[in-house]
Amino acid sequence: MASAPHVSSENPAALPAAPALFQELSGYLKPDDLTQVRAAYHFSESAHQGQYRKSGEPYIAHPLAVANILAQWHLDSQALTAALLHDVVEDTSVTKGQIAEQFGRPVAELVDGVSKLDRIQFDTHEHAQAENFRKMLLAMARDVRVMLIKLADRLHNMRTLDAVHTEKRQRIARETLDIYAPIANRLGLNSIYQEMEDLSFRHLFPDRYRVLAKAVRTARGNRREVVGKVLESIERRLREHGIDAQVQGREKHLHSVYRKMREKHLSFAQVHDVFGFRVIVRDHMACYMALGLLHGLYKPIPGKFKDYIAIPKANGYQSLHTTLFGPFGSPIEIQIRTAEMHKIAEAGVASHWLYKSSDTSLSELQQKTHQWLQSLLEMQSESGDSVEFLEHLKVDLFPDEVYVFTPKGRIMSLPRGATAVDFAYAVHTDIGNRCVAVKINQELMPLRTELRNGDRVEIVTASHAKPNPLWLNFVATAKARAHIRHFLKTMHFSESVQLGSRLLQQALANFRKTHADIHDAQWDKLVRDSNARSRDEILSDVGLGKRLAVVVAHQLLALGEPLRPEARPTGAVVVRGSEGFAVQFARCCGPIPGDPIIGIINKGQGMVIHTHDCPLAAKSNRDPERVLDVQWDANPTKLFDVGIRLVVANQRGVLAKVAAEIAAAESNIQNVAVDPDDGGTYTVMRFTVQVMNRMHLARIVRDLRRIPEVVRIGRSKG
Ligand code: MN
Repeated sequence: MASAPHVSSENPAALPAAPALFQELSGYLKPDDLTQVRAAYHFSESAHQGQYRKSGEPYIAHPLAVANILAQWHLDSQALTAALLHDVVEDTSVTKGQIAEQFGRPVAELVDGVSKLDRIQFDTHEHAQAENFRKMLLAMARDVRVMLIKLADRLHNMRTLDAVHTEKRQRIARETLDIYAPIANRLGLNSIYQEMEDLSFRHLFPDRYRVLAKAVRTARGNRREVVGKVLESIERRLREHGIDAQVQGREKHLHSVYRKMREKHLSFAQVHDVFGFRVIVRDHMACYMALGLLHGLYKPIPGKFKDYIAIPKANGYQSLHTTLFGPFGSPIEIQIRTAEMHKIAEAGVASHWLYKSSDTSLSELQQKTHQWLQSLLEMQSESGDSVEFLEHLKVDLFPDEVYVFTPKGRIMSLPRGATAVDFAYAVHTDIGNRCVAVKINQELMPLRTELRNGDRVEIVTASHAKPNPLWLNFVATAKARAHIRHFLKTMHFSESVQLGSRLLQQALANFRKTHADIHDAQWDKLVRDSNARSRDEILSDVGLGKRLAVVVAHQLLALGEPLRPEARPTGAVVVRGSEGFAVQFARCCGPIPGDPIIGIINKGQGMVIHTHDCPLAAKSNRDPERVLDVQWDANPTKLFDVGIRLVVANQRGVLAKVAAEIAAAESNIQNVAVDPDDGGTYTVMRFTVQVMNRMHLARIVRDLRRIPEVVRIGRSKG
């Protein structure tokens, strides 16, 4: 098979597939886009020059075939371009940069995405692992188009698998059956799914395939007359009642017959639904009417009716299914659907993936995907429960989880944002408690590193190692958090004091201080202020992770001499208690001096100042150790942005009056927004102004109230 002659490729453009592709594309692409796809074809053809497939064809035949499959789905020019180039980076000297330069970044990203999927091989046969692997591939694809190219690539490789040697053929067929066919099914790409399953079946079990195919052929011959009769009477019955319908005989694909025989321990003769009929009508109403008519024509088998229109399958599939007692005693399966449902049943995701313009950036692309989900939602909400379907797809396309490999090739799923420490605890509590370092894709990385899809993670442990309270600052899983806390709790008091002292030492170093710089008076005051019994209790709290070392360090220093400027990343201290932190003022509530405030320490050790009553702050308040009581400095010199909202009589010149009053109150206007004039009596104005504090704001508000046109005025938040 592999010894096919090397064909000279003087003129590979003469491959019949090329003109066919461009013929198809000219039907729906704009001329400019067509030119780009054509350029990609020539680029790919010369990059693959001198390479041949196992079948002996010039290599370009493969990307061309992949592009042809995508053209059937009317994919956009970026996807088509990427399909033609999909093996170029892996198999030739062309780089991703060159592709970006010549065909744009989005195309380069698509090619890169496909190459990344190519590099991951699946080698366990565990069922649960296969499911995780599918999810990981989908998550890695990010852009659905990457998966569509990959599926088309795999489909063409399956179609030409005869040329490949036995061992590899078995591996690829197994992988296709376990991984890619289910993904195609999940995305609703029915015809690809069926073809992949049947091709895999043929290569994995050639004998069973041959026997079953023959049985189906024979049965088809035997039943031909029956099928014709049923078809005719269905058509007649619908026509008589004025229903426009297209009626087709259909055959189950071989692998699903085989699966049914295996799962239900049936002989071929016992599998009834090998043949069936499909009725395609104009709208939902007609589906149900056709159903009623057919139930009048032949008796339905009780319990066999399913309404997938009202409750679509997880992949978006919709139809009515029913089984009838046929005229010759054999049951007949019938599917009833609209043309739209039929399109989705055959091509799934791809049926919606028709771009109007080709220059879409990645964010736009995500938007498009959202739009597409939205359109599905609308389409399905007409008919009922679509939530399950959408949830399902969202999980697949925008997963909240990352999938990573253990050193042994097992796949673990973790929540997005999970770090190496979360991974360690997910593997085993002991590994978590003893982890000291991590290798991600063979490279030593910090334990706080966030994991990405497809990472291979190896935890380095040491028998004497202990959990570090600082990990609590970055772990993302409840399990890791609980175990770290539990470990710290069970530590002896003296140990926790020691650990706390060490952590405080580290924190003080950030301020260029040591323990020696802290006087007893500072300690005594802190012990008093925080209602602790002793200095050791505070240290122990730090060691146990109940207090953050950086917070204690900074409280101690604040009780001593004023901090030197270099210890204050934000320059002038406007909030007491925030020294040593990079301070930001929350946008949600926009605090100004005079407002009661709290400081919330975030992951990166910065502090965000919120007002006491900010609902957003209350949310992050769940973690009390991150919340710091802070106060405004007596005389902050800075000005603060604050929003005010006015309802004013819609009269000429009112904006100028308001602006003049604000300026007179010694404030600056940062921003103005006025609702469009709809001819109404009142209108709304929103200002962002700068104030020194609440009193200053109160003065401005009082002055503005004096303007006769101002009906209502208030501070606006968020
Ligand atoms: Mn390929």
